[in-house]
Amino acid sequence: MVASAKIKPLKYRVFTRNDLAAIPQLQRLAPDVRLSMQAVATVLPFRVNNYVIDNLIRWDNIPDDPIFQLTFPQPGMLEAPDLRQLRQLLAKGVAPDKVGTVARDIQNRLNPHPAGQMELNVPRLDGQALPGMQHKYRDTVLFFPAPGQTCHAYCTYCFRWPQFVGIDDLKFAARQAESLVGYLREHKEVSNVLFTGGDPMIMRTAVLRRFIEPLLDPSLEHITTIRIGTKATAYWPYRFVTDPDADDLLRLFEQVKDSGRHLAIMSHYSHPVELSTPVAQAAIRRIQRTGAIIRCQAPLIRHVNDDADAWAELWRTEVRLGAVPYYMFVERDTGPKGYFEVPLARCYEIFQKAYRRVSGLERTVRGPSMSATPGKVIVDGIAEIAGEKVFSLRFVQAREPDWVRRPFHARFDEHATWLDQLRPAFGAKEFFFEGALKKMKRDLREPAYGHRIAPRKPVTVFGHVEWE
Ligand SMILES: *Cc1c(COP(=O)(O)O)cnc(C)c1O
Ligand code: SF4
Repeated sequence: MVASAKIKPLKYRVFTRNDLAAIPQLQRLAPDVRLSMQAVATVLPFRVNNYVIDNLIRWDNIPDDPIFQLTFPQPGMLEAPDLRQLRQLLAKGVAPDKVGTVARDIQNRLNPHPAGQMELNVPRLDGQALPGMQHKYRDTVLFFPAPGQTCHAYCTYCFRWPQFVGIDDLKFAARQAESLVGYLREHKEVSNVLFTGGDPMIMRTAVLRRFIEPLLDPSLEHITTIRIGTKATAYWPYRFVTDPDADDLLRLFEQVKDSGRHLAIMSHYSHPVELSTPVAQAAIRRIQRTGAIIRCQAPLIRHVNDDADAWAELWRTEVRLGAVPYYMFVERDTGPKGYFEVPLARCYEIFQKAYRRVSGLERTVRGPSMSATPGKVIVDGIAEIAGEKVFSLRFVQAREPDWVRRPFHARFDEHATWLDQLRPAFGAKEFFFEGALKKMKRDLREPAYGHRIAPRKPVTVFGHVEWE
């Protein structure tokens, strides 16, 4: 095991809404600002820890500090009338359940997923929908372990309505692990399993092991890659360095490697400051020494990382530390609309400006990428073709494998923030995939790679990747 003698252990201390007043660094803010933060925190998730507070936020730079914006409630995240109403209730000292009722009402209005939405990605085994799994792209199954549906700190833009509220008992987890193995045995086309959440690294190693070890069984030789999506490398790197079961975690990683498989830690890094601390760098070194590869991804978020310099520095630092830049995502409309949103044209401009400053080794990154209903769509460029200003677009992942890499074009629109706001260029009536997608939804037919599409109650899922 890699020595970590230089890093002193730190005890994890979590702060949620009721602890806002107990954070000493916040005392420098005006009482009025603190009241607004309290108000926003009744609606949006708030959870932060002592490492983030003491090491990642520059408190002489608030409110502009990117990690402060990433983790602390900001007045601009709510509509003015909602904010005003909540502030009044809190100032009057109204009972918490009354405030809660108003807050839930606002949450319902913010929820980006209207009821009745069709879920196209739910895998089934013997006709039963499988809980906590998604299978959208042929090669990769997403798995949401029930005990991993929280994070070491919350990103304010990640509007989570957890899918497993109250279902985190281990019996459920065991059944879930069994379903995963059962499904994979029947789906030889799947080569990747991606653990996501919440954050799977919130689980103790012993619990994570129960999900991962069964995948190493010889009957699942077609599973060649295990990926784990996490922001623990940024929000709580001690998980890999000095926590009591950190060494055991690294042994589990080695076990995956020793089974002949690829282990990819899909790290969510939003800003270079997250890579700047000795413990964050120690975490990377220790993970790498197990043979795992760290690939990095994050969404582009206004107030946090809508800045080409930050991205160029982020990618360069990742490569210097031996990690691989992987995706830059466009943030989907998640609740606090407007506050975090960056138009596609601006996303492209930031991506291109950062990309042109770095060497080929950093250019493994793909983006800006929208995880939309038909697939992951990259804004490849802004061009003028036959006198029309257009976005050049391309699938890097698609519900139908045949759509991948086919270039297509949309009319330029400087305000558009998502694929569904774009119109086809050159007078076309619809994009090339739209007919097939509509038919897929209508017929609930088998997609090319074989799992059944079925309607079901909408379940909203959030993670390090925003998907649909
Ligand atoms: C992004 C994503 C994946 C993984 O795609 P890769 O391009 O292989 O990284 C798998 N499933 C869903 C639903 C996704 O959004
Ligand atoms: S983006 Fe990831 S780390 Fe942040 S709150 Fe959402 S699931 Fe947790």
